Amino acid sequence: MTDGARLATQPGVRPREAATHCPYCALQCGMVLRETAGRVEVAPRDFPTNRGGLCQKGWTSAELLDHPDRLTTPLLRDRPGGELRPASWDEALDRVAGGLRAIQERHGPDAVAVFGGGGLTNEKAYALGKFARVALGTRHIDYNGRWCMSSAAAAGLRAFGVDRGLPFPLADLGRADTLLLVGANPAETMPPLMRHLADQRERGGRLIVVDPRLTATARQADLHLQPLPGTDLAVANALLHIALTEGWLDRAYVADRTTGFDEVRRTVAGCWPAEAERLSGVPVADLEATARALATVDRAVILTARGAEQHAKGVDTVTAFINLALALGLPGRPGSGYGCLTGQGNGQGGREHGQKADQLPGYRRIDDPAAREHVAGVWGVDPAALPGPGVPAYQLLDSLGTPHGPRALLVFGSNPVVSAPRAARVESRLRDLDLLVVADFLRSETADLADVVLPVAQWAEEDGTMTNLEGRVLRRRALREPPPGVRTDLAVLAALAARLKGGAPSYREMHNKGPFLTPEEAFPADPRAVFAELRRASAGGPADYAGVSWDRIDADTGVFWPCPDEDGPDSPRLFTDRFPTPDGRARFRAVTHRPAAEPVCADYPLHLTTGRVLAHYQSGAQTRRVAALRRAAPGGFVELHPDLAGRLGVAEGEEVRVVSRRGELRAPARLSPAIRPDTVFAPFHWPGAARANSVTNDAVDPVSGMPEFKICAVRVEKA
Ligand code: SF4
Repeated sequence: MTDGARLATQPGVRPREAATHCPYCALQCGMVLRETAGRVEVAPRDFPTNRGGLCQKGWTSAELLDHPDRLTTPLLRDRPGGELRPASWDEALDRVAGGLRAIQERHGPDAVAVFGGGGLTNEKAYALGKFARVALGTRHIDYNGRWCMSSAAAAGLRAFGVDRGLPFPLADLGRADTLLLVGANPAETMPPLMRHLADQRERGGRLIVVDPRLTATARQADLHLQPLPGTDLAVANALLHIALTEGWLDRAYVADRTTGFDEVRRTVAGCWPAEAERLSGVPVADLEATARALATVDRAVILTARGAEQHAKGVDTVTAFINLALALGLPGRPGSGYGCLTGQGNGQGGREHGQKADQLPGYRRIDDPAAREHVAGVWGVDPAALPGPGVPAYQLLDSLGTPHGPRALLVFGSNPVVSAPRAARVESRLRDLDLLVVADFLRSETADLADVVLPVAQWAEEDGTMTNLEGRVLRRRALREPPPGVRTDLAVLAALAARLKGGAPSYREMHNKGPFLTPEEAFPADPRAVFAELRRASAGGPADYAGVSWDRIDADTGVFWPCPDEDGPDSPRLFTDRFPTPDGRARFRAVTHRPAAEPVCADYPLHLTTGRVLAHYQSGAQTRRVAALRRAAPGGFVELHPDLAGRLGVAEGEEVRVVSRRGELRAPARLSPAIRPDTVFAPFHWPGAARANSVTNDAVDPVSGMPEFKICAVRVEKA
């Protein structure tokens, strides 16, 4: 019986139960799965994040377990352009291992790359990073989380010395007198979170939403600021300018707990609200009301999400809001602070344990000699044998199959054909590879291009841990075993590692002298064993999981990192006394507004912004297959203001083309006064003609590598 599932005793009925969490977003709502006579039902479970609520995606999540599209046998393509055909696991794994070896022998270790996902468990993210660095010896690993939280992560590290999305429990939102949401639409992306906002409102708190669209969340706000996409930084600096001018700063906090304010003061002194109004369209009066609402209350919280972060200046935009929060003395005070709303299910844990190009487990830097020595010691290899940093996700994908780029790619838990910016170009790069391997449980659009597809287990078939948007480590508990023919990702890595033994120099060394003598010991398929090793590898790092055990998580409602000691406390609220920087102070950093990477012009006179809808998750590879979700949101659309539609002569439901310098999307027009007349919106969950990322810009933030998903220049035409 799988860990965490209970088998009832009544003969003939055999219900099983598992108390677990939703497979989708970072709220990680608690749920109970119950299987009776082969049918799995989902029920909400009271948990601090969801308080007994689930959204439509969570309620219907079990439908994919026995879905007819489920992959249950490996697939192989015998020749380019040929069809995928069923194969045995031995044949598929031999093909992968043989192909990887041949490519590396010919082109070197960096000719193989690995691409992970923000939905992988901590154990899988850790094992994937180790597999890349040790079994393959490649520096090329990154993941799709680069496209979600990386700008907030980089800004948080720069300012606070640590990147934890929310440095306080979600319940703190309910205590805030003022809550400012910037580029976040939780009413659609994570509806149960709105229960915390309802608490806040019931207590008399104010909600202010900054979003170019009057979203479902913005409709509930006391004040909605509707800036032009890409001008949030100007808005933030103007808010700080007003706070400075009005004398609303927390001077004692700035003096005692921060550094670098003088330069920020000089910079924002020139950030006049009237100029911010000119850039963003947000009236000065609304900027003043927002600054007052944040600065003249006891408790205020500022949260950013993808709307502010997915820009080529995403790090600086988040930094501007952190500057505002620090100047008002918010971080570290109960019911106050700055945070980022993480998106993907394990977006937080997935960026802590080695999936990122520049990181080792525990949020250690791969170019830090002490970090390399520690992790190499746990892995039983020479630190010098570990590769150096790779490149961020888009750069990596854009280099595939080129003369100096990787020739092979292993994809786990990601669908870049739909989710990557400038997706047609990424698709073409994938086609140029000598070997594309995709591990997934459904045939995604990326799997359709693969040479080898490996069928892997789903969330209800595996044990492990996830780290939610609060930095709370949770238990994923299996309800049932994977179906025949399906293996877990960890088992796939273990089997490949066994075939690659003796390949990369560090891997040879591991087997010659390290503490791990067999591939099974180096790459165990048992998630408990992987987590035990992860704890040791993360010990002493910024994201320290050394004191987090599965038993401890089971005994409570999860464990907040850092937690260095199993007998010591965890860390639900950070920054109360000091920041984890060398001098214990948070760091201001002066930032200024700059235009979007691609300004509008006569040929492309409109702004396109992209986002999500309630019924779908990420690339939609899963949720597009769920009948109820497909009925709720059957396809892509283009949202236009009626004034714009009138100018273009476009009627409701009429198909339009949205054209950028990179490509076009076609979808029905949806007319709505909720969007600015100079901006159109398209959700990014669909492939084919409605693929929003055919149009998006691949300009990236120079610090985080975040692409500019949220704004590019387009024209809209009747199709
Ligand atoms: S998708 Fe997110 S909000 Fe919806 S049930 Fe799952 S975890 Fe909760």
